[in-house]
Amino acid sequence: MRAMKETVCLISLGCPKNLVDSEVTLGLLSKEGHPLTTDPSRAEVIIVNTCSFIKDATQEAIETILQYIRFKREGRCRLLIVSGCLPQRYGKVLEKELPEVDLFIGTGSFQKIPQLISREGKRKSYLSGRTFLYNDKTPRILSTPPLTAYLKIAEGCSRTCTFCTVPRIRGPYRSRTIHSIVKEAERLAVQGVKELVLIAQDTTTYGEDLRDGTSLERLLKGLVRVEGLRWIRILYAYPKPVRFTKTLLQLIGQEEKVCSYLDLPIQHIDDAILRRMGRRSKGREILDLIRKIRASVPGIALRTSLIVGFPGESERQFKTLLHFVEETRFDHLGAFKYSPEEGTPAIRLSNPVPEEVKEERLRTLMEVQKRISHDAYQQLVGKKMEVLVEGAGSRKTTLRGRIQTQAPEIDGNVFLKGTAPLGSWVEARMTRALPYDLFGEIQKILP
Ligand code: SF4
Repeated sequence: MRAMKETVCLISLGCPKNLVDSEVTLGLLSKEGHPLTTDPSRAEVIIVNTCSFIKDATQEAIETILQYIRFKREGRCRLLIVSGCLPQRYGKVLEKELPEVDLFIGTGSFQKIPQLISREGKRKSYLSGRTFLYNDKTPRILSTPPLTAYLKIAEGCSRTCTFCTVPRIRGPYRSRTIHSIVKEAERLAVQGVKELVLIAQDTTTYGEDLRDGTSLERLLKGLVRVEGLRWIRILYAYPKPVRFTKTLLQLIGQEEKVCSYLDLPIQHIDDAILRRMGRRSKGREILDLIRKIRASVPGIALRTSLIVGFPGESERQFKTLLHFVEETRFDHLGAFKYSPEEGTPAIRLSNPVPEEVKEERLRTLMEVQKRISHDAYQQLVGKKMEVLVEGAGSRKTTLRGRIQTQAPEIDGNVFLKGTAPLGSWVEARMTRALPYDLFGEIQKILP
């Protein structure tokens, strides 16, 4: 047993859901007395919390691990731990591939890391158990800018999208209780958090597995009563029309704290491709849903994610997708080339699209979106808007912030002229638009 608790550095890769797991790991380590550092050269223990849902993410995880294996070889850290989706997905084979790594911890065991650090023993992999789902009593150390926090409302996914590895890595869908989530929100608000970003693999299915009337709408009703919060944002809302009830949309439209913003990952619009993807909505249903959302919440900002180059996607089907993007004019859009993933049904589908065609389709689609995004921002020039000041600006501007229709990390920023304390809310007049960012001048600091 070691006397002094070792200093730990955790490198977090992947999505906000994985980031919350990292923050919980830091909270548990700190509770056990481990000093924490963001500087790996000052750490005795290095943890790489990995993502592995597609090849590129797996590649990034491996490259990061190799970087810290060099650290270990140079004796600059005692223990190297790899946690998260990579060990959960690939299991014990990693022990042979990466022998210098001391521990491989899956998504069901990261809460045990403080105990495993001080344990001596031969076993290297802890991969069993379903993904650990924290609650309001679990210690957590935020790593996001001080006013913003991700709130994981559920873990896993029970859908069967044919291209997706998540259900196999993270297990079936499990919701937290409204009580636990609201309690955590209250704790975060006391800590000074003003923006809560609700995340799960699919936020619209929230509560269904509890079979007790728990729902996203009831959760929002609980969260808007939490004092001190200013923005509550919904990400990863699966586009299933029946989930978007009239009363849920009314709540989003009427509750000031609920951002007039929705992230709706659609993936495609062509019926045949949606069927091959195993998506449960048809193109017509999705179009009607978008119309219903925009009619119920005028001015709502919509974000989506699309996949190009899915096996069998013909030029005509890609044109259908392109036309949909041109017509729908999403405020924000992320597009990805289809990535064939081992263990997914889609990898066995016929008619793979050549890489260069995927590239070309991605480029064409993002060119269209760039114009749409620029036009949307151009509409805001001259307007006075509420901006959350988050950090220092670029060369010509002093500060950087976000408006309500910009989610953290994915939707661009507002670069501001003027002075205001970090973490304050200001009213700023928008002065210039770029395709993915805005410029503004601070008019006044808001209470
Ligand atoms: S909804 Fe589909 S794409 Fe999203 S995590 Fe679940 S299986 Fe994957």
